[in-house]
Amino acid sequence: MEVINNFVSLKSHIDGSPQESDFEILTETLPLSVVAGSKDVLVKNMYVSIDPYQLNRMKSLSSSQTSGSSYAVGVTLGQAIDAYGVGKVVASGHPDFEKDDLVIGLISWGEYSIVKEGSILNKLNSLGFPYTYHVGILGFSGLTAYAGFFDVCKPKKGEKVFVSAASGSVGNLVGQYAKLLGCYVVGCAGTQKKVDLLKSKLGFDEAFNYKEEGDLKAALKKYFPDGIDIYFDNVGAEMLEAAVANMNSFGRVAVCGVISEYTDKAKRAAPDMIDVVYKRITIRGFLAGDYMSLFPEFMTATTDHLQTGKMHALEDISQGLESVPSAFAGIFRGDNVGKKIVQIAEE
Ligand code: NAP
Repeated sequence: MEVINNFVSLKSHIDGSPQESDFEILTETLPLSVVAGSKDVLVKNMYVSIDPYQLNRMKSLSSSQTSGSSYAVGVTLGQAIDAYGVGKVVASGHPDFEKDDLVIGLISWGEYSIVKEGSILNKLNSLGFPYTYHVGILGFSGLTAYAGFFDVCKPKKGEKVFVSAASGSVGNLVGQYAKLLGCYVVGCAGTQKKVDLLKSKLGFDEAFNYKEEGDLKAALKKYFPDGIDIYFDNVGAEMLEAAVANMNSFGRVAVCGVISEYTDKAKRAAPDMIDVVYKRITIRGFLAGDYMSLFPEFMTATTDHLQTGKMHALEDISQGLESVPSAFAGIFRGDNVGKKIVQIAEE
């Protein structure tokens, strides 16, 4: 028995902003069984994650590709693109998995994935939450926000926290954790609708549309008259410079990502290093994958907050494999509100 597998692939490397036309949908035939004697797992994909870091994998060259992180390696043209997601086992040569198991891990932007031994794949216990939560708030976006905020930023109640890309997958969760701890939280986002949502639904103290602020340093001075203690950076470049200019002594910057620099090679954050020295500011990059040991603590805390209604999942789900290219290009245009996911197949 065989099955037709449609999958998204890259036509040519992307060294600027991604466009839908950079991708094509290819078709292959797959056997509905795994190679005898292998530990391969054939998965029917249900939900796949759409993440900014994938762009760095699609460039002709990026330092991220040689960082040693297995999920950051360059994408091969014309091949399936692996991505985090949820699916169901169709056939398995691996003793840990059997047909119809619900699984989560590195699958692909396609209808089916062959997951090789050694790749990330786990059985999914949904704990009664929608499967999509395990791709976002209870998955890597959540762990990134939790580890980045609590471990990297070491926050204290009452501290003043600034979050960029605050209505995005990671940013909205950082803001929610910070509010729950009792911090003063300001977020920035790219539309008035997002700004309103941050204040009305997620309880941010203040939010502003960075695209309407001519002078980011002055804008931050207005929202933080007593200075910033923590900046959770998702965008880099000018925003990082403006935040550093407004930081208090011993302020902490967690560099989670620099999305504005992903699409523009010429963009670089150049914070005033004299500020960094004299205010003893810590600027630290981090990767969520280094914090797997925090996963149980993160899950307990976050499922509890969800069950008691103290946290909200912000999701943005598109339908169908063919929507993957526009969903991906859209995150660099600010189209998404919350975690961007594509549903590939019915549950
Ligand atoms: P996301 O925030 O859900 O989506 C990206 C958002 O960034 C867009 O919605 C857009 O919102 C904003 N944006 C896009 N281009 C921008 C630009 N040029 N300048 C300013 N804002 C821009 O994505 P995410 O998954 O939560 O990721 C956020 C950041 O965290 C990314 O930099 C990502 O690479 C990083 N990340 C890091 C780790 C880690 O382990 N360190 C893990 C996950 C994610 P607006 O409408 O507000 O512009």
